[in-house]
Amino acid sequence: MLRILLISISVLVFLTRPSIAESKPSLKIVTTTGMVKDMVRNIGGERITVDAIMNEGVDPHLYQPTSADVRKVLAADLIFASGMNLEGRMTDVFERSQSMGKKVVLVTDRVDDEVLIESADYPGQPDPHVWHDVVQWSTGIPVVVDALSKADPEGAEIYEANAAMYVDRLNGLNGYVTWVMSTIPKSQRVLITAHDAFGYFGQAYGVQVRGVQGITTESEAGISDINALVDFIVENKISAVFIESSVSDRNVQALVEGARNRGQEVVVGGTLYSDSMGAPGSWEGTYEGMIEHNVNVMSTALGGSVPKGGYRGAASLVTEGPS
Ligand SMILES: [Zn+2]
Repeated sequence: MLRILLISISVLVFLTRPSIAESKPSLKIVTTTGMVKDMVRNIGGERITVDAIMNEGVDPHLYQPTSADVRKVLAADLIFASGMNLEGRMTDVFERSQSMGKKVVLVTDRVDDEVLIESADYPGQPDPHVWHDVVQWSTGIPVVVDALSKADPEGAEIYEANAAMYVDRLNGLNGYVTWVMSTIPKSQRVLITAHDAFGYFGQAYGVQVRGVQGITTESEAGISDINALVDFIVENKISAVFIESSVSDRNVQALVEGARNRGQEVVVGGTLYSDSMGAPGSWEGTYEGMIEHNVNVMSTALGGSVPKGGYRGAASLVTEGPS
């Protein structure tokens, strides 16, 4: 009797265990930016295929979808975008796919209203560069879990488990960023970049930020914008400014020259990944690598320190904080 029971239990287990085909339903996902792709990939794991439209070095404010991109979006099961009007020129494609019954999920949907930064460039729309605040970017994780689970209910547990691991990693990353930025002397915690991409970063990690161009790169900077920033650099004795991988360095070079002409020696402190990640397959081509790269470059240029081994080798430093 016991043996029969055991056999029937094992048959039941065998029958209820998902087959290999069922464990990989391969939802076809398309995202806009690489940062969104990285989040979706971490949560979806093996059960999805995910493709980003905007790759390394692409400026999402200006990106005009190609006809191949449009086909890709329309063929996807689910579309994830960053939102807050970041991908302004993709609105038509999103509307077309929604009219075909496809969902466009915005990963910044659950960002705390209280932290939202007003944007003069887009009245009524907040600053979209949320990914530079690791804690607020993490509010996208449950948004992705919910959307994937709705499209693929059988994968819900896997998505939850993957998300829990990703939340832990991003908590660690947030600790690292906080620690590294706190090593920069207070008077040097000023970040001057090509456009205003680091507002949320500054707000979260205690850095004053100034960009030559505004929240979006759509409007060109004028000579008066450059002169005003040169004044700021000279008055505050700023020693380093930064270029961005997805924006022309012309305006930043103009700042360096302008400040030098006024006797203030200022250097380009390095290249930051503002709106686009590094090369696919590299550490900087992941969200965590992008953020780590940025804080290491900032800290090194502005007189702070970077722990030996960086983010992945610095777990003990992160929990202890600076001495
Ligand atoms: Zn931007």
